[in-house]
Amino acid sequence: MPQELDLLIRAGRVHGHDGLVDVHIRNGLVVAVQPTLPVPAGDGHAGDGHATAAPAEAREVLDAGGGLVSRSFTEPHYHPDKAYSRRLAPEGMADGFARARAIKAGFTVPDVTERALRALRLASANGVTALRANVDVDSVSGLTGLHGVLAARERVAHLLDVQIVAFPQEGLLRDPLARPLLVEALRSGAGLVGGWPNVEEGAEAQRAHVREVFDLAERFGTDVDIHLDCEIDATQTMLEFTAAETVRRGYQGRVVASHCCSLEVYDDADAARVIAAVAEADVRVVVVPLNLVDGGPRGLSRPRQLAEAGVVVAAGSDNLNDGWYALGTLDPMDRARTAFLGAGYHDEGALDTAWDLVCGQAAAAIGGRPGDIAVGEDADLVVFDVPDRATALAGVPGRRVTLRRGRVVGRRDTTGTTAYGPIGLTAALSGTGTPGGTGPGRPAQEKASA
Ligand SMILES: [Zn+2]
Repeated sequence: MPQELDLLIRAGRVHGHDGLVDVHIRNGLVVAVQPTLPVPAGDGHAGDGHATAAPAEAREVLDAGGGLVSRSFTEPHYHPDKAYSRRLAPEGMADGFARARAIKAGFTVPDVTERALRALRLASANGVTALRANVDVDSVSGLTGLHGVLAARERVAHLLDVQIVAFPQEGLLRDPLARPLLVEALRSGAGLVGGWPNVEEGAEAQRAHVREVFDLAERFGTDVDIHLDCEIDATQTMLEFTAAETVRRGYQGRVVASHCCSLEVYDDADAARVIAAVAEADVRVVVVPLNLVDGGPRGLSRPRQLAEAGVVVAAGSDNLNDGWYALGTLDPMDRARTAFLGAGYHDEGALDTAWDLVCGQAAAAIGGRPGDIAVGEDADLVVFDVPDRATALAGVPGRRVTLRRGRVVGRRDTTGTTAYGPIGLTAALSGTGTPGGTGPGRPAQEKASA
């Protein structure tokens, strides 16, 4: 008799497997993915053909009802200290940088903690189980953001893993007080060194900024996660310099570069040279498809060409209703869909490429493994009520269940009543735990008999 499972996800669809499959979970790990057996005739089931022949050896069963079961998602680039802070902006301040600075000058630890918690819980409900957070460390807000996000991280440790980057948003040469604060941040719980060289005055100061970031990383033995060339401006060239510095320091595979927007507007010969340097340095690139700075779009880098050169490429959210960006959902489907559109993916497998930007490649970018569900790995999963990636990426209202290490930790339900009445999507995913819930943000459900 095989050992009892903790959870059986029944009759789901897993990318790469034909037909309906069952996902077997024990001790927080996926221990098998195997075809769902047809229901024997006359056993009393309703005949939907979905039930397994012998589902009884699991303590709990989650009926996926033919829905897609995916590996959970990774958010490789987000700023939770700033979450939902836009309302704190002074009236009439149009410039994004000045506005963001004015907002963070008012941060307090409890305020950051509460806003970050709200964002991290939203990410979890959307299917995210790992997130890399950039947190401002500078003379404006000191270590307030760090302490707030550290407190929030502790309270959501059961939902998702949060890595923290100490991010000198105001510069290092421009803001000399940021230097000792970064050191203090790395001693107080930040696990990575961040940077943004382009904020410094002039090319030599920008290069000095990059060198200082690596100096700090070497001193503390951490990896680097650095904002580079964040606008579609061909004069921004810090990605190429950072790739060279990565090789010089022997930091291959330990550097994430985010944004890298100027690459999009280099001429093709320059772009090819920089992409080759990035590939040689094994610098991972996180593009930010949803973001928009005041005055225009930021561009999307060149995710297709980077990936073709062998670079690990992922997509991140960056901001959510803060001084830099008014919108944002922390929904991996949104960033994957926007990247799909923005990058002009059209080849065979384009939808899978878009999926990977927020799933396997996003995990790989921040130190995890690539790929989808794998036997022997953590049962960090998302169950959708739609059958395939294309429908999930399309963003129609629906339900999702997030599992972390085999336990249901989040539910999201965007079905419900609209101006035109209830949306009649399948009521699958009702097999275990509590129903969708009545938390904030969930539309009211009109009673049929009212
Ligand atoms: Zn950022």
